[in-house]
Amino acid sequence: MSLEPAKIAAAVESSFAAQVAWLTKLVGFPTLRGEESPCQDWLARDFAGRGWSVDRYSLADVEMAHLPGFSPVMDTDYARAVQVVATIRSPEQRGRSLILQGHVDVVPEGPFEMWQSPPFAGTVREGRLYGRGAGDMKAGVSAMVFALGALRDLGYAPASDVYVETVTEEECTGNGALSTLARGYRADACLIPEPTGQRILRGTVGVMWFRLKLRGRPVHVSRSEEGTNAILSAFGLIEAIRAFTKSLNERAKQHPWFSKIQNPVKFNPGKIKGGDWASSTPSWCEVDCRIAVLPGMSLEAFRRELTQVVMEASRRDNFLANNLPEIVWNGFQADDYVLEPGSEFENAMRAAHRAVMKDEPQETILPAVTDCRFYGRYYDIPSLAYGPASTDGHGFDEFVELESLKKATIVIARFISEWCGLRPVG
Ligand SMILES: [Zn+2]
Repeated sequence: MSLEPAKIAAAVESSFAAQVAWLTKLVGFPTLRGEESPCQDWLARDFAGRGWSVDRYSLADVEMAHLPGFSPVMDTDYARAVQVVATIRSPEQRGRSLILQGHVDVVPEGPFEMWQSPPFAGTVREGRLYGRGAGDMKAGVSAMVFALGALRDLGYAPASDVYVETVTEEECTGNGALSTLARGYRADACLIPEPTGQRILRGTVGVMWFRLKLRGRPVHVSRSEEGTNAILSAFGLIEAIRAFTKSLNERAKQHPWFSKIQNPVKFNPGKIKGGDWASSTPSWCEVDCRIAVLPGMSLEAFRRELTQVVMEASRRDNFLANNLPEIVWNGFQADDYVLEPGSEFENAMRAAHRAVMKDEPQETILPAVTDCRFYGRYYDIPSLAYGPASTDGHGFDEFVELESLKKATIVIARFISEWCGLRPVG
């Protein structure tokens, strides 16, 4: 059975004010790392209220360190990392099963006074909803939930099993997504409504986090020539990695997909600590870094090459040469992922977009990661991201375009109706 796009659009339209209110509530939870559980608890209750059966657990409950794609963590209490999987079971399996997944964790908001409106207020202005996580990706979470709601309002439920997953750790490890797979949830496809501007996400780079730990020899600054400065030594290593990044981007020009974007490999020293006293040369420095992995390269080979770059640069530093720095692999150890064109899943997603938007969706390749890699790369579940339009998710005044959110919700509802089939419900 096929539902007219116009009918779906009308149902999404009539619940859209409720969707925006729901999204505002969701943005109101400051779901920084380790603080997501109130939001997840609220979602678990909301899902149960929709008649879905809810599995709520924490990452401390799941064995997954042995699984491909697992990223190591430090100083993080996984008992606080709550995950939610809601199941909508169909008594008959007429269509294909589906995972709808979204992450609720957000990155820190930065200096509060730089925001036009409070980051966790969820403020609507000129057709946009502003707030940290509004775009990345709580709007997408609202789209998957309200797409199912719109079908329900029309009197239908999916005619195959659907899992609605809200996870954490997407912004730092991906272990939330991995835990759902470790727990056994599987389907014929996985859709993640990340804010792609209604484009099909073709591929993502790999990403690695690491911490550089350096020592220096502290002396009174009046005798600085006799000591070393760990902060300045860190600059030397950072410069060496920047040069390495340039060479990686040259090599990326050979890649069939990632050659299509400029400089897919980005390096970012994102957090720095060091020293104890303004008049002592710093005896220590720690830099938390993020670098993209050269697409096509294994994580192990990449770690080897990066280590070599750091150690070579250290040998040019008087003090570091004899006191080599330590590299701690903490956080993302993420493989790249490409959804090869022509899958049944992608075709169905494209057809849904065409039916609603009356044109062919564009596609995009990102110099970043999403959770798609877990499903697509390790579990053979074709996975793509498709969602509303948003700004840079990690900046000030992050927002989602509400018109695009509405459209994406209609497309997703149409996709569900075609992919899963529909059964009437009372
Ligand atoms: Zn995201």
